[in-house]
Amino acid sequence: MDHDELWHQALTEIETNVTKANFITWFKHTAVADLRDGVVTLSVPNGFAKEWLKSKYHKFILRAVRNIDRDVKDIEYIIGQYKSAIEEKRRPTPDRLRRAGIPTAVPDDEFTLRDVSIDPVTNLNPRYAFEHFIVGSFNELAHATAQSIVKNPGNSYNPLFIYGGVGLGKTHLIQAVGNEVMRQRPGFRVLYVPTERFMGEVVEALSNQAMSRLKEKYRLIDLLIIDDIQFIGRTEKMQEEFFHIFNTLYQNNKQIIISSDRPPKSIPTLEERLRSRFEGGMIADIGLPDRETRMMILKTKCLEKSMAVPEDALWFVADSIKTNIRELEGALNRVVISSKLSNSPISLEETKKILAHIAQEPRRFTSLKKVVKSVADFFEINEKELIDHSRRKEIVRPRQIAMYLLREDLKSSFPFIGDKLGKKDHTTVIHACKKITNELKSNPLLEEELRAIRDRMYSA
Ligand code: ADP
Ligand code: MG
Repeated sequence: MDHDELWHQALTEIETNVTKANFITWFKHTAVADLRDGVVTLSVPNGFAKEWLKSKYHKFILRAVRNIDRDVKDIEYIIGQYKSAIEEKRRPTPDRLRRAGIPTAVPDDEFTLRDVSIDPVTNLNPRYAFEHFIVGSFNELAHATAQSIVKNPGNSYNPLFIYGGVGLGKTHLIQAVGNEVMRQRPGFRVLYVPTERFMGEVVEALSNQAMSRLKEKYRLIDLLIIDDIQFIGRTEKMQEEFFHIFNTLYQNNKQIIISSDRPPKSIPTLEERLRSRFEGGMIADIGLPDRETRMMILKTKCLEKSMAVPEDALWFVADSIKTNIRELEGALNRVVISSKLSNSPISLEETKKILAHIAQEPRRFTSLKKVVKSVADFFEINEKELIDHSRRKEIVRPRQIAMYLLREDLKSSFPFIGDKLGKKDHTTVIHACKKITNELKSNPLLEEELRAIRDRMYSA
């Protein structure tokens, strides 16, 4: 395995364990420059990244790399001039820009290592195609609505809002719509943009007095795909600009697709007028794939990559990872790579060994601190307020949810929870847990909120 492949595999694992923003900030523009005597030399873009990775992510990076190559003992960091051939390739040629007829910024702020052939005009990755997208009951509705948009963009569901947990295929599905629309309607102007990048563009345009140019660029789009809208900034200006761009497209019957890790109601930073716009369209969720579907996905991946993995080993993988398709793929890759490295055929026994740490100590690990932080982040409140005995109305419910999560997931005792969260009596905690449990029976929104909070609680 060469350096690039090693790092590519490690990044796949890292990506599932850090937030998207952190991933883009710290891991884009990194590469393995050298691997000698068990020491991986990691090339990073600047001194700041070097310090940060060393102090905050060192152990984590080492673990990810060692999961793939046991012989690695240490990681060193150098500030490199690394500019991948891949990035060079992604530069939009004047020709392509002209063909699209829109002034398009060069995409530069996204992770690029494995997205070899992202289209510089549409930002779409051709890898995300419908033909590689497995449909099961967990994503049936989302898939059907996506298909109907392909048939009739702008005139079926507008906007289409897709939400679901991490690694369950939102980006894949919404990009597949873009790719398919482009295939069927070559003149169509499609743009895929992650919310973080959109915000970057707005900030830049505001500081350069270039807002009207940015608006013009968006005005010309026929299908706008916005990924991970939950990252939208709270600032009024940001939402205002987004609202204008959204409205202009919407009023001209241009198709808009939005993805999020939770329904519009549960995005605390979202302005009311945007929320109601989103809710005025079609909302479809993506749930968890069942066992058979997970198996289907694994089999398809094997076929796509011509990998031979015996059925029983595949079932084992399918049973080990249940809540994240990216991780499911990652586990399969790990098995395949290990067998390549050791030059032995894949067997159930081998697979069990390789995935032992996943099965034995579930990756799912959280703590009081993480619960408090995740709940506070999710509701955009201060951690301290959750812990202190603030009686502010806005705090009551988040605190009840935190209590419930501590009880359910960490099995903490009622008095302990009360003591840590607001110095409450244990009966208050019991009441809170009962209330949330009851509400869960009739409020699917709460279920989504809990899932999104848990995604945070269990991420690195
Ligand atoms: P999300 O955006 O929801 O976090 P992604 O779209 O990035 O998830 O999907 C994670 C990985 O799983 C990707 O590699 C994607 O191709 C794969 N994947 C997700 N859903 C499916 C599916 N239904 N069929 C096949 N592969 C899928
Ligand atoms: Mg995504």
